[in-house]
Amino acid sequence: MRLNGLLPGLSLFVSLWLALPVEAARLQFWRFDAQANRLTFTTDDSIQPTAQLLSNPTRLVIDMPSTTLLTPEVQSYDDGAIKEVRVGALDADTTRLIVEYHQGYSVDPNQVEVRGESSRQWTVQLPDAIAVNSRVLGARPSTPADNLANLEPDVRPLLDSLGARTNSSADNTNNDELPVMPNGRFTVVIDPGHGGRDPGAVGINGLQEKQVVNDIAPRVAAILQQQGVNVVMTRNSDIEVDLEPRVQVAERANATIFVSIHANAISMSRPDVNGLETFYASESGQRLANTVHSNVLRVMGMRDRRVRSARFYVIRQTSMPAILIETGFVTGAEDAPNLADPAWRERMASAIAQGILLHLQQGL
Ligand SMILES: [Zn+2]
Repeated sequence: MRLNGLLPGLSLFVSLWLALPVEAARLQFWRFDAQANRLTFTTDDSIQPTAQLLSNPTRLVIDMPSTTLLTPEVQSYDDGAIKEVRVGALDADTTRLIVEYHQGYSVDPNQVEVRGESSRQWTVQLPDAIAVNSRVLGARPSTPADNLANLEPDVRPLLDSLGARTNSSADNTNNDELPVMPNGRFTVVIDPGHGGRDPGAVGINGLQEKQVVNDIAPRVAAILQQQGVNVVMTRNSDIEVDLEPRVQVAERANATIFVSIHANAISMSRPDVNGLETFYASESGQRLANTVHSNVLRVMGMRDRRVRSARFYVIRQTSMPAILIETGFVTGAEDAPNLADPAWRERMASAIAQGILLHLQQGL
């Protein structure tokens, strides 16, 4: 495509199809380097992304089919040609990354370079933007290329939903800042607190503790694995596991740390009680508790019910640093709707994983 095709009012369509197997994947990392004009992103499984360059305003749109993401995010830029870079869910199983330029800027699609380092690691190198004279160009008659506008998917709903999120605490998650651990150096045991016949605590609207922890725990495990950590789960399905075998799992795995994930409850007549509590039983557990707890508070913006010492079986009988984290109250008026929300749970999982990684990093 020639440069003079890049006029405001025209939509350009550049599609790059890559013949790779389609599998469900997760966007685990993305970053836009404004200095280098380079977008990078990584998924936990092979993906087949498409790239489009659309105009009015000029934007590069990367769609990742069969790919989910942890947190929608928007990064805005005050100076330069690029207005913002944002990531969100286009629909239930498509993740969309957009690099949007300010009005009056364009780029040569022939110079947009999309490279797969592997089918999981992608780099998009963008050329310098070109300032276009919109007064002159605006006066041009429409051309057959205008019809290409029909190809343009409606990105407005995505933008709106992302815009609504930018003011929330979702801003504070830095999924692209997760430290990477030396492969296999650390083993973390993740213990989903309840399962099977044991629903754990039951709260507002019948919300069960096991629903919460059976969702958060595997997400934590997946993030840790992506960062090079060995993860052992005390259970891999919705079954009931006694307390003693959980400790044995951790001991046999010679785990570096043990993290039990729960949701809290108090009487149904106390919806006013909400917040995060983290328990430890040893000095080394206390350090782990402090790191994870403060990270979750920072990211989630919850009420702080503090780090506490307790003699719970799983954190007392394990020989490694061990914590039990209560991710909120299923009986709490503030916490219950959050605990019932998959997107919130995803952020919680990310925040816990990040806290664990920060702790492990101190041991490197
Ligand atoms: Zn529990």
